[in-house]
Amino acid sequence: MSTDTPQQTLTRTTDPQEIAVVGGGMAGTLAALVLARDGHRVTVYERDDTDLPDTADEAFDDWDRRGAPHARQSHAILARLRRILRERAPDVLDELLAQGATELSVERILPPDIADREPRPGDDDLVLLCCRRLTIEWVLRRAVAAEAGVTWQGGVGVAGLLAEGTDVRGLRLDDGTTAEADLVVVGGGRNSPVLDWIAELGGALQPLEEQSEAGIIYLSRFYRLNEGQELPLLTKDGAGGDLGYVAFAGFYGDNRTFSITFGVPTNDRELMAMRDEAAWEAAIRTLTPLEPWTSEGLAEPITGVESMARLRNRIRRFVIDGEPVATGLVVIGDAAVATNPWYGKGCSLAGIAAEELSEALAEHGRDRVALAHAMDAAVRAELEPHYTLAVRQDADRMKLHGAMHDGTEPDPMAVATRDFVYNGLLPATRMDPDVFRAFFRAFNMLDAPDALMADPKVLTAAMQAHATKDERPPAPKLGPERDEFLAVMAGAISA
Ligand SMILES: Cc1cc2nc3c(=O)[nH]c(=O)nc-3n(C[C@H](O)[C@H](O)[C@H](O)COP(=O)(O)OP(=O)(O)OC[C@H]3O[C@@H](n4cnc5c(N)ncnc54)[C@H](O)[C@@H]3O)c2cc1C
Repeated sequence: MSTDTPQQTLTRTTDPQEIAVVGGGMAGTLAALVLARDGHRVTVYERDDTDLPDTADEAFDDWDRRGAPHARQSHAILARLRRILRERAPDVLDELLAQGATELSVERILPPDIADREPRPGDDDLVLLCCRRLTIEWVLRRAVAAEAGVTWQGGVGVAGLLAEGTDVRGLRLDDGTTAEADLVVVGGGRNSPVLDWIAELGGALQPLEEQSEAGIIYLSRFYRLNEGQELPLLTKDGAGGDLGYVAFAGFYGDNRTFSITFGVPTNDRELMAMRDEAAWEAAIRTLTPLEPWTSEGLAEPITGVESMARLRNRIRRFVIDGEPVATGLVVIGDAAVATNPWYGKGCSLAGIAAEELSEALAEHGRDRVALAHAMDAAVRAELEPHYTLAVRQDADRMKLHGAMHDGTEPDPMAVATRDFVYNGLLPATRMDPDVFRAFFRAFNMLDAPDALMADPKVLTAAMQAHATKDERPPAPKLGPERDEFLAVMAGAISA
């Protein structure tokens, strides 16, 4: 499906299948919702076993989601997933907004120096969803639970696949029982042992996996606005930035919450001092773009400083040399394609996979080989370009951080790329409403990643901005140099 032309092609199936979904996280719930609404009968097996909370705040405070511990980290829900919800399940999008999520449209965040603020075609799509990850997951879970075609098996872990050779016919459960299904969809997340499950089938072909370090550790802290306080909209400098040695961002939440997150390079142990709450609070107050987020009396923290490491980019291929490694099996979400969370793609990638599966099932029905090929093609066309971009960006950033710490000469290509982005592309987005929109569309996965620099207007504007970089005043500093940043934290810890 083209990313340019959203379309709703599906009607309810005339041949409903019994579909077993492993995992009730983002990918599992999105797939269950879409497939049940297509008319299939879906059973979701989710190992976590807690009652569904009554409110978004209860979900954040108490919901036992040990199967998805990153669910309490900052999440941006990109416009691509919002569009999928709007097209596939507008009632769920409405419910999310009713439960306190908000929308951030392109008109609201156009840089202030851009005088032309007229709306453009496509602006309806260009809207971020602002909410905590557990809020959207809770709303999805409730929607799935209310769906007539869905059976929710909470507290039921899956131990492996039930198969005849490599033709998958159902699941083996942790309690030793089995469950048959016409199709198994694995959405077990980034730690899913699905490759082991496939290996146990003993097929001649095994999946191929490619992975690389994201190169950062996530540190996040959540806040709630005090009575009578409001968080101002993005400032001139945006709500985040990259100091060269560390990147940071503010995330709007739901129900008067927000969070602040740092992406700390894995090779910079000193910066991990930020895990100390006093150091953290001092550190965030050194960042100019976050001044409106850190002003006195605005908000109180509602969590400690939460860290998350072992972040990787990873893609798995399940069709090798033109042959599916197994039939009757589709792997979605982080278990299939995972990217550095800093780019905010994961939930949208899960949504795209759910959509693609819906379309592949509509087209191929019970032809299990054709289904495997269709999903492989969909991954290559719709998901892999986003993965490839993340890998490239991370490799460049790690080369620069590596050189910064070793004192070696940085990689010239990585330096040139950063120079072009920071002195060409980004300044151009602040001057031209169409360039800003093109950039924001790419960031939000509404266009394929290569569309941005293939757009002649964007390329010309970025080159012009780059050519005149020395004629502009230097960009305002977003925060201190690293030594000063460390000293501020050390001072706060010893105080
Ligand atoms: C720190 C961090 C920040 C992120 N920020 C963003 C962001 O800003 N925007 C964004 O879009 N994405 C973000 N992501 C990525 C996003 O969270 C993931 O892409 C998304 O959770 C993937 O959904 P999933 O369903 O594949 O996996 P998960 O959401 O992890 O769900 C997997 C589920 O499967 C269950 N499960 C696993 N194995 C079994 C089994 N054997 N039997 C039964 N159940 C099982 C687990 O209990 C879990 O509920 C972030 C990720 C991280 C780590």
